[in-house]
Amino acid sequence: MSLPYNDYSTRLREILGTRIQKISINAGFTCPNRDGKVGVGGCTYCNNQTFNPDYCQQDKSVTQQIAEGIAFFRKKHDEQKHLAYFQAYTNTYGDIAHLIDLYEEALSYPGIIGLVIGTRPDCINKELLDYLQELSGKCYVMVEYGVESTCDETLKAINRGHDFATAQRAIRATAQRGIHTAAHLILGLPGEDRTTLLSHAHQLSELPLTTIKLHQLQLIKGTVMAQQFATHPDQFRLFSVDEYIDLCIDFLELLHPNISVERFTSQSPPHLLIAPDWKVKNHEFVVKLQRRMIARNTSQGRLYLYKS
Ligand code: SF4
Repeated sequence: MSLPYNDYSTRLREILGTRIQKISINAGFTCPNRDGKVGVGGCTYCNNQTFNPDYCQQDKSVTQQIAEGIAFFRKKHDEQKHLAYFQAYTNTYGDIAHLIDLYEEALSYPGIIGLVIGTRPDCINKELLDYLQELSGKCYVMVEYGVESTCDETLKAINRGHDFATAQRAIRATAQRGIHTAAHLILGLPGEDRTTLLSHAHQLSELPLTTIKLHQLQLIKGTVMAQQFATHPDQFRLFSVDEYIDLCIDFLELLHPNISVERFTSQSPPHLLIAPDWKVKNHEFVVKLQRRMIARNTSQGRLYLYKS
């Protein structure tokens, strides 16, 4: 059955010809929005413990993390290849020779057929893009940028330390070199009403993106946003699962049909999550969303306006 939206894992399998599993790596990077280069304290919603699986700890080498990650997933699917996913913190933030050593250590592991590199849009440069452009002629390379919002007022309020124009420049510069390019977006940041949330779909559709990853806003223990929520809960609009499904579908209807979608939700560890506690796993959410799209007789890009 064909899906009512452009699904990234389907597209990836078509490109690479096999089932793909990403293996997360914590290579010991920090973040310029934490160490003072751009800011201190980080983004108000950020607690990096939320995206580190057990096998992915920075005291282990890249090779060891990949070996343990592959062993973990092999229990589920024997026949698959892997992409090394440099996920935690800002994975282009460092001396270029050191970055290249880490990327190439990952690529030298059997069964790793490419890289996915998560980073901030203000943390990329020509030298690194030159290297990644050359590398992408030999293997799959994707750079994932944390965009989070296309609204500068929101970006300021969440202490991102960069504006949307910076994200636009980084995405265009990366895609122009033939490197797969992704954007993260959080749906539901404080201060964003429905019109603003849907305007993100228009803004991202204008960019040469391969894929996007959507996340519902989650309030995580130990973050600045958790304190803000405790003192001013009225400033937050947390969606129920049903409301969020409809929001995602409204968003998809406006999104350019060529941009694939990798995910709609994230699941923080229960011991760190304050709200919303949906108790719905990512794959269960996707099934609900697909059923709702069929019920609404709609598809990605249905309301996208092509510009001549
Ligand atoms: S979300 Fe990313 S950019 Fe923001 S503080 Fe956390 S690691 Fe840094």
